[in-house]
Amino acid sequence: MTPLAGCEKSFSKQSFLEDWNGSLKNSNSRLTADVFTPSLAICSDLDETPDAATYFELIRFLNTTEETTMGPGVGLEVGNTIYFDMAPGHFSYWNASEAEREKIRSLIRSGYIDCLHSYGDLATARAHAGRALDELVKHDCWIPVWVDHAVAPTNFGADIMQGHGDEQGHPAYHADLSMSYGIRHVWRGRVTSVIGQDRPFSLRSIGSARHPLASIGTLAKEAAKQILARRGHAKYMPQAGNPLVVETSLRDGQPVRELIRCNPSWGSVSCHDRGDEIHEVLTRRFLDRLVERQAPCILYTHFGKLGRGATPHRFQPAVVKAFRLLAEYHHSGKLRATTTARLLDAHAAGWQTGPLEPLVFPDL
Ligand SMILES: [Zn+2]
Repeated sequence: MTPLAGCEKSFSKQSFLEDWNGSLKNSNSRLTADVFTPSLAICSDLDETPDAATYFELIRFLNTTEETTMGPGVGLEVGNTIYFDMAPGHFSYWNASEAEREKIRSLIRSGYIDCLHSYGDLATARAHAGRALDELVKHDCWIPVWVDHAVAPTNFGADIMQGHGDEQGHPAYHADLSMSYGIRHVWRGRVTSVIGQDRPFSLRSIGSARHPLASIGTLAKEAAKQILARRGHAKYMPQAGNPLVVETSLRDGQPVRELIRCNPSWGSVSCHDRGDEIHEVLTRRFLDRLVERQAPCILYTHFGKLGRGATPHRFQPAVVKAFRLLAEYHHSGKLRATTTARLLDAHAAGWQTGPLEPLVFPDL
């Protein structure tokens, strides 16, 4: 059996998205907007993660209260991403040892790895996607969120991310397989500076008085994007009105929910988007603004980019402090930190789901 054939056989041909939306809406649920908004999902791409040990240790610090190399864990609910086909030396599923793969699978099954970060730089053909999906299905691992990576050929984004994953006839076409597998939400490269989505467009609490010139540039760019979006500019249109999610379609016609991530750095959306600088955006000012707006937000970052800090294999003290601050807000009920998938599923259900039980961290 070829990997691809196995993969195709495993999937139902029904529209997964329709079934899933229907089941959520028809469920006997109650309104729990107070539980979900404001809510923050930190959505980290795993690029440049130095090694497997660092990847797992950061996850343990964020999601447990166990002793870690960064002190006691903060007991939040923070997801992560994984990809498959990467060059040697890059942490990824196929580059991991069998013991490390088992840990990855445990984290997927328990909900702590909730995003597929494309199939990787070296996944150039449909068969690469098929092989990865076969492996996931074989191990009962279901990842509901797709996040485009760099300029990986399997990306979905046509403009910013230069992908071909949803282009029928292209060697990297896999959208039919991946959506049937169970991808429910897709990120195609769009990031906003605006703090809190599904609320009126506002540039408050983004700029820094210590960095006036850079701040003005960032604010001007975001304002310009919004003007272009409202005028129907194709690249920015999904961001018109500051939504968290846009209902749209892939190039092969399949309906998809596209999410917009946020990075409210004064320096621009691609500044401080790293594990060694996240304390520049994960501030009291940012959290207070989210609480004030009672808004959802999916924060764009890369935990594994640690090379500019003092501690290249763990979060440096300023970052640890920022996560302890977020934990204060989370544990006191001011806002809810959760995974990208859980936040998006709640959003898709109109915030009408039953109360969410905390995820159960696996024994790694
Ligand atoms: Zn990436």
